[in-house]
Amino acid sequence: MKYKCTECGKDFSIEHIHYLCDECGRDWVPGNKLSGVLEICYDQADKENIQKELLINNFFPYDKADLPNIPVGNTPFFKAEKLSNKHNLNLWIKNDTVNPTGSYKDRASYWVLAQAKHHNINKIVCASTGNAGSSLAGISAATDIKAKIFIPAKAPLGKRAQNIAYGADLDLVEGSYDDAYALSIDYSADGKSLNRNTGYNPITIEGKKSVALEIYQQNNNKIPAYIVIPVGDGVILSGVYKGFKDLLELGITNSIPKLIGVQSNKSNAIYNYWKNGEYKSLEHADTIADSISVKSPACADLAVRAIRESHGFMIEVDDSLIVGFQFEIARNSGIFCEPSSAVVAGIFEEKYMLNKDQQIVLLLTGHGLKDVNSILNY
Ligand SMILES: [Zn+2]
Repeated sequence: MKYKCTECGKDFSIEHIHYLCDECGRDWVPGNKLSGVLEICYDQADKENIQKELLINNFFPYDKADLPNIPVGNTPFFKAEKLSNKHNLNLWIKNDTVNPTGSYKDRASYWVLAQAKHHNINKIVCASTGNAGSSLAGISAATDIKAKIFIPAKAPLGKRAQNIAYGADLDLVEGSYDDAYALSIDYSADGKSLNRNTGYNPITIEGKKSVALEIYQQNNNKIPAYIVIPVGDGVILSGVYKGFKDLLELGITNSIPKLIGVQSNKSNAIYNYWKNGEYKSLEHADTIADSISVKSPACADLAVRAIRESHGFMIEVDDSLIVGFQFEIARNSGIFCEPSSAVVAGIFEEKYMLNKDQQIVLLLTGHGLKDVNSILNY
């Protein structure tokens, strides 16, 4: 297997650490969307091995022995009966709030830790709105590898507390996620630490694809009609698409679910890009759903490609409705998710696009206890 540039197609060896394509990403500066994002491509021999035995961990570039000793993924997948009946839809939940640190981000951290071990690196740095940082801190704590985290000082208390509890070297940034991102890139520039920034390190996308493989297996080897995904940086969306694309390219499946990306109208750079066909960073991104608050989404290009190629669509939800969505999901399914996850309930307003015969999967990415202020203030 190898890294491949998603823009020019240039190959890079998996035996070295690569972030962006050395040509397409050469002029990229932090604060802008990424250019020259790499992805892992499997060669014929890998494909034959994977097809012989469809095991989720065979779909990844590192040895399973390099993985941290903490279970990640294999999260519950079930039909949300009460929610389905209320909205006259066929709604399923993939509950990623029950990962070890309470978020989907553990899927990326898990494989980045394996990457660090494979390359003999003992420190990993990342920028985060809160969840990626607490995830890296938590999953690293199961190993001897150190975590260095840059998060905005205004990140919710629960997420800051997690970073402290796990013993990460925490840097509170008086600024936005985009500012934290730039600081983390500087930090890893000397090559002594591995950078886990989402999208920038291609293994984050690869790790995040694991949910697609699980959904396929948990759904009795069937492809759902739709998957509804909260969108900030666009990396989860890109990862889910990558997982289903790998299954398709291996000849295991013959279709890809339509992906529905959801953003807040106060952090909607990818929604605008999808709608207008033209990318523009936002002047401000200030949604109550802090995990998906970003002015310049790293994976904007891949995210829009995922929506188009899966024949899905994007929606934006009014920020003032998001806490109500948290209540709606919690009171009708028993799952308390954070505001960024609750945006998926925006599809309940889009019923003209959907019908009750189609299986719709809601991807719930972060636990509600991470950010209790939104509920209490409400
Ligand atoms: Zn390139």
